[in-house]
Amino acid sequence: MLAFKMIPSDPPKAISLSIVIPIYNEAEVMPVLQQRLITVLDRMPERVEIVFVDDGSNDNSLVLAHQFDGGTSDVTVVSLSRNFGKEAATSAGLQHAKGLAVILLDADLQDPPELIPAMVSAWRKGFDIVNMQRRQRLGESWIKRTSAACFYRLLNIMSDHAIPENVGDFRLLSREVVDHINELPERNRYMKGLLNWPGFEQTTLPFDREPRAAGDTKWNYFKLVGLAIDGITSFSIKPLRLATVVGSLCAGWALTFGAWIMIKTVLWGEPMQGYPTIMIAILALGGLQLLAIGILGEYLGRVFVEVKGRPTYLVKQLEQRKASQLVEQN
Ligand code: UDP
Ligand code: MG
Repeated sequence: MLAFKMIPSDPPKAISLSIVIPIYNEAEVMPVLQQRLITVLDRMPERVEIVFVDDGSNDNSLVLAHQFDGGTSDVTVVSLSRNFGKEAATSAGLQHAKGLAVILLDADLQDPPELIPAMVSAWRKGFDIVNMQRRQRLGESWIKRTSAACFYRLLNIMSDHAIPENVGDFRLLSREVVDHINELPERNRYMKGLLNWPGFEQTTLPFDREPRAAGDTKWNYFKLVGLAIDGITSFSIKPLRLATVVGSLCAGWALTFGAWIMIKTVLWGEPMQGYPTIMIAILALGGLQLLAIGILGEYLGRVFVEVKGRPTYLVKQLEQRKASQLVEQN
């Protein structure tokens, strides 16, 4: 009689590669992801593990992750207790990944899985970080492209060490780098910055970013502005310095202008005039003061979050499945 028995793949090799995929309401895209990702991974000689982090999805994504057929790869499903945001989900994935190299991949196939072998061969050549740089941003509006360009420019002016432009979270990290990132205690996990912080040997491969395969983006402009502010304030104190410099310049200008008016009145007897000048000065200074207080507030808020020391995410359930083979028994 024919019977099939599930046996774990033997002998167990160490996991060489972990693919970390945060998912938040990605049910629509999961079948396509399954097909494209597994086609690539099944052809690779390495032992691979796929780590799904379900970031509190309220559609069918978690069920689909549990049912995900990893082919020759192990599958781990980390399900978070609620939606903690992509940065926290990515941190959870990095904490649970066991591979000697870890690749961060978006579920929506904007990061083509077909590039994984090229990333792995760059890692085998000795690079610790393989950054994937977008050559084009297909399917993104003109506004999004322009605002992204402005954001990267600003981020690089403001932050203390260069963060490569147009490199998203899609990248490969060696075990050493992942361990260092996992040890970082901060709660405010701005990934683009954190991933660059450790340094090590890096290389950058260009790629064309495709439009989303299905479903909708989980970001809106409000969230993106929040992310941008997080990015700048968690990696630099230059805005504080800028506030001091602008404040001093304004004060200097006010003193000089005041002195000039006094001289004019005393020496030439010119009557004081200029309601508009006073209004402009008051408004400009008021605005600058509010801006400076806002910047202080941003940093104070960050200190508040760090001091509370709450965990970045909570895991509700963890499932680990070994790659299994269907073995025919007689
Ligand atoms: N994502 C997440 N938690 C969130 C928002 C997004 O885990 O709160 C995941 C999402 O499922 C996807 C990835 O992060 O795998 C990128 O999200 P999205 O494609 O919406 O962002 P975009 O590509 O528009 O920047
Ligand atoms: Mg996307």
